[in-house]
Amino acid sequence: MCHNTIMHRAETVVLKLRSPSKAKRAWLDQTAERFRQGVQLGLDFALSAKTSNRGKIHAATYPKVRALGLPSDYCRMAINQVVQLVRSHFGLRKGKRKVGKPTVVRSQGIGLGVNAYRVVGTTLRVSTGQKGQYLWFPLSVPPQWRDRLQYVQGDARLFKRGHDWFVMLPLKVPTTPTVRGGNGEPTVIGVDLGIVRLATAKHPKGVFVVNGKPIRHRRERFASLRQRLQRHRRTDRVRAMGDRERRWMTYLNHKVSRQLVDLALRYPNPVLAFERLDGIRDRVRGSKKFNRMVSSWAFRQLVDFVLYKAERAGVRVVFVDPRKTSQTCPKCGHASRANRPEQSHFRCVACGYQGNADVVASLNIAAAALDVLRQGPPDTARLGQPGQAPPVGEGLDGVKVWASAHTDSNLASSA
Ligand SMILES: [Zn+2]
Repeated sequence: MCHNTIMHRAETVVLKLRSPSKAKRAWLDQTAERFRQGVQLGLDFALSAKTSNRGKIHAATYPKVRALGLPSDYCRMAINQVVQLVRSHFGLRKGKRKVGKPTVVRSQGIGLGVNAYRVVGTTLRVSTGQKGQYLWFPLSVPPQWRDRLQYVQGDARLFKRGHDWFVMLPLKVPTTPTVRGGNGEPTVIGVDLGIVRLATAKHPKGVFVVNGKPIRHRRERFASLRQRLQRHRRTDRVRAMGDRERRWMTYLNHKVSRQLVDLALRYPNPVLAFERLDGIRDRVRGSKKFNRMVSSWAFRQLVDFVLYKAERAGVRVVFVDPRKTSQTCPKCGHASRANRPEQSHFRCVACGYQGNADVVASLNIAAAALDVLRQGPPDTARLGQPGQAPPVGEGLDGVKVWASAHTDSNLASSA
């Protein structure tokens, strides 16, 4: 029915050079310094000649940059860097912002042209500029990146942070969608996102939980700091703090999304299921203080990251209607607000089933996702009916839905 056109997506990966020898470190430091000087040379010329033309910059500075002892591949990269810097400098000036003359005080690292390096297995081979002479740098490669190194393609960069050296490698990854397992049964893992627990996912071997407490804590602290700064009219610092807070949340979302996808990959034919996000906004309505704890922005970002990572890993992601996922009994299907006597606890008023509310939500999300997988996306009319999610273990065509550990026997008997 469809033939595959292979599409590529550009990605970058940063890998640490595994304890390079003293001699290699000396080469790195020296080359980085020459690279910096080369960029400064080119920059000085481009600014005094008021040009961002690559040809002109190259003609005027290449011999001088070479004379610094920089191999030709590296010279080309230094000049590229110059062109980039002056273009952004001139661009900024056009915008009438006051900008100083750019200088290359800090090391720019070392630009590695396509021809100056190769990745062989998990080792970086770098050209020294002398024919046939290379330096070999073993890389620290996390297992999930091993396969991907085959897609390295394009200009790279070596840079130093603290005492460690890293290489930033560009990847061109084919994005032909794949589904793991194929004809096997899906393992559906429902992920409940919330305030008390950022994420709860019941899976065959247990429950994955990310406690939301550190987030709440941190956001509260940021909020009170922000209020204090606002009183002192330090808007610059308020903004800087906002940035810091967002960066931190982004870091966390990267980590959690990775964990969720890795969790899914432990099972055959995995599917991750989430509520559509309008539901989360709904649930955190309530109070201003509540909303501040985890903004819907953060949830959306987490789901975006999961989608992105899941697609690359061949894990399917399904979204379900958020209504009733927190109030429906996974055993008997009875849906009622009364099933949630407290935020954290679920107790079915019809059959007495009890459990952690987030785990229950995770189960309901998985069940609803199975429905979607079986029947295709349901129409909205169906969704309006109460108790629509099939009870766990029933009518699922041999597909397992994962129930919380302490009630497994109950659930089995209801099937
Ligand atoms: Zn029940």
